[in-house]
Amino acid sequence: MTEGCIKFNCNWEQSVAQIPEAIYNQLETARSALYRLGLIGMYPDGIGFGNISVRLGGGLSFVITGSATGQFAQLKPEHYALVREFSFSDNSISCIGQTKASAESLSHAAVYESCPDVGAVVHVHSLYLWEKLLDRFPTTSSGIEYGTPEMAFAIAGLASEINGRAGKVIVMGGHREGILAFGSTLSEATEEIIKMHNQYKND
Ligand SMILES: [Zn+2]
Repeated sequence: MTEGCIKFNCNWEQSVAQIPEAIYNQLETARSALYRLGLIGMYPDGIGFGNISVRLGGGLSFVITGSATGQFAQLKPEHYALVREFSFSDNSISCIGQTKASAESLSHAAVYESCPDVGAVVHVHSLYLWEKLLDRFPTTSSGIEYGTPEMAFAIAGLASEINGRAGKVIVMGGHREGILAFGSTLSEATEEIIKMHNQYKND
C-alpha cells in the first residue's frame, strides 16, 4: 500500500509550480483539519496516506498534495504539485512541482473529468470509517486496486452517478481504508468527511 509515484507513469517536470496563494491557503486549512483527525498522515512503516486537490480554473488541471508528504502537519507550497495532463488508458499524468504529484492523482482526475462542476477532491484513509461505509455508500469493486486505470474508470462512473446527491462519497473497495469525497468546493468535500468521521468514530 504505497502512495508514491510508483504504479503509474509520471511525467514530472521538477520545477516551481505557480500555485495561487488563495488555493494554497484553502488546501492547508483543509489538510491540517484532516491531519489532526488522523485521516491524512503516515503509517508506522513510513508510508504516507491521504491526499487532497483543488481544480484550477475551469479546466482539467488541478493542484494536489505531493507524494511522500503524509508525515508533515503542515505543507509548504513546494509540497504541492500541479497536474497538467493525464490519461487513464495510459495510466499516466504530467505534473510540475518540486515534489511529484500523489500516485493517486488519477483517482482525483477521474472525478474532475466526469463531473465538470466539481472543484475539489479529498482522499483519506480510515479503517473504521471504511468498514462502516463499505457497500453502504457507492463502492468500487474489491478486485480493483488503487493507482490502476480500472480504479480511475470505476471512480469516474460512480462520481457522475452520485454527483447530484448530497453526500458525495465513494468507498474504494479494493483500496483498504480508502475513501474519496468531492464537492464544488474543498470545504464542502472536507466537511463531508469530517461529518462522517464524527458520526461513526464512537460506534
Ligand atoms: Zn489511498
